[in-house]
Formats: sequence, C-alpha cells, structure tokens
Amino acid sequence: MLISHFHPDHIGGIRLKDGTLAFPNAEVVVPEAEWDFWMDEGAMSRAPAGLVNAFKIVRAVFDPMAKDVRRYKGDTEPAPGIYAIPAYGHTPGHMAFRIASEKEQLLVWSDVTNHPALFVRNPGWHAIFDMDPEMAEETRRRMLDMAATDKLLVSGYHFPFPAVGHIAQRSVREFAFVPEQWNPAL
Ligand SMILES: [Zn+2]
Repeated sequence: MLISHFHPDHIGGIRLKDGTLAFPNAEVVVPEAEWDFWMDEGAMSRAPAGLVNAFKIVRAVFDPMAKDVRRYKGDTEPAPGIYAIPAYGHTPGHMAFRIASEKEQLLVWSDVTNHPALFVRNPGWHAIFDMDPEMAEETRRRMLDMAATDKLLVSGYHFPFPAVGHIAQRSVREFAFVPEQWNPAL
C-alpha cells in the first residue's frame, strides 16, 4: 500500500472503524519526509488548532504499526515500476508517482491540483489544504509543465470521473485538463 501523504482522507482507510487493519497482509509504504514531519512531537505541539486532529489521526493509524512501516525517499522506486517524485507543498513530504509499463506512462500527482477543474486552469490559486501554498504552487507548475511536455497521461486524487486525461498547454502559464474519452464498450 503506497501512501502519498498523511492527510486523513489518504490514510484513514488503512484501519477499519474498530481500529483493525483493513488489509492486514499489506505492506504499508510511506514517504520518509512525511513520516518525519507528522510523527514529530515538536511539529504536533506547534500545529495550529485546525491541524491537531490530523496529527491525532496519523498517530492512531501508525503508532501501533510503526515498526512495520517501510519508509521511502523521493526520486526512488518504492515499488517496481513506480517512481516517487517529490511534490512538496501540499504537505511537507507529499509525493507524486510516475508509473511506467512498457511504452506507456501515467503520472499520478496525488493532491497537486486538488480538484483539477479549479487548479489546473488556475495554478496560481491556493487551496486551504495546501500547507505551504507557495511551495505547492511551484510544485503544481512544475508538474503541469512535465505533463504537458512529456504528453503524460495524468491522474490525481479528487479527480472527477473518468479521472484520467492529458494536460494541454494554452500559453506559458495557462493549462487545461483534457479528460480521456470514456468508452464503455472496450
Ligand atoms: Zn491532501
């Protein structure tokens, strides 16, 4: 189970409501920078009130399994064929993934654009969920450039159906998300 970042909606499903693991045999693999931030007592004590609950959820999920969690760094291959790309800003250790299979490539950029209808079109807009808004914007522009230049198929969390598409570059700073055609008859 490859984790991109520790926001509650991205780790909450690791455990069921009663606290047992939803997938007891799965290895849980997390970004090291994310672990270092969220598991740090100092960071938790300095957290603004709105973030304290997120810290508590991180601990409830990971504390009982801390010794079994595998941590990975950016610019490595945490699972075969999946390359982790540092995409900091949304959270301190937020990761995107470039997945290669033969000639095809998919960029899963996690929460780089939150909802693409807003933040692909307006990469300079800042969502409240981006913990370091300036860094998140820099990351967003870098990912948009990469996706447009390399003509990558892109997906991210919170994308609406069909959740995959390409990035068209309209001008130096203007982008558009072009969803894949959905065809139910394969
Ligand atoms: Zn998030």
